[in-house]
Amino acid sequence: MPHDTNATTPQATGHSPLATSYSLPGLLEVITGPMFSGKSEELIRRLKRARIARQRVACYKPDIDLRYHRTSIASHSSQTHDACPVTNVEHLREDLYPQLADVEVVGIDEVQFLSPEIIPLALELVALGKRVLMAGLDTTFANEPFGPVPALMALADKVTKLSAVCMVCGQSAIHTQRLGASQELVVVGATGIYEARCRAHFKPWVDEHGSEQLELAAAL
Ligand SMILES: [Zn+2]
Repeated sequence: MPHDTNATTPQATGHSPLATSYSLPGLLEVITGPMFSGKSEELIRRLKRARIARQRVACYKPDIDLRYHRTSIASHSSQTHDACPVTNVEHLREDLYPQLADVEVVGIDEVQFLSPEIIPLALELVALGKRVLMAGLDTTFANEPFGPVPALMALADKVTKLSAVCMVCGQSAIHTQRLGASQELVVVGATGIYEARCRAHFKPWVDEHGSEQLELAAAL
């Protein structure tokens, strides 16, 4: 078989032992860590790189994230990227699937607030050849695994676990400390209510009314 340098079809590359006759699966990448660790910034960086590479990007975030902009994701360092706010996983699916043929990269920020239905959806998108980037907290303020994030980490091709800086001692911080005993629902990204803390300086936040974060995640 003559070597064809312009070969693009799987059949034309059939001489390679690694060649496949089916479309390649995509990738699941999870970016996690405590608040103030730069998760959104890293997600935005990867999405911008994809756009520079002329890949078409769709970006979502749960509607609960009222930080800075309603229709974009924002990092604490003021980087932003357009994002469609969705009320739940079904809403995300309804928005994404009609345009799926035109989308190569799917980004989701604050994924910890979505229900576990996001897990099969992520795997479905990967099976369809999409690159799926998800950013979210790995643990709650009570130091429990947060929503679907632990399972997504287990199923991912690539996990990036970022650390922040402990606001007490300056060491590497893996925890999000909730300050005070506010009865408010989760206020995403609100400085003054949360701090990054190292293991030595983290005290799990105790919610007298049960784990409202998990109840909230289940509701979405
Ligand atoms: Zn510390």
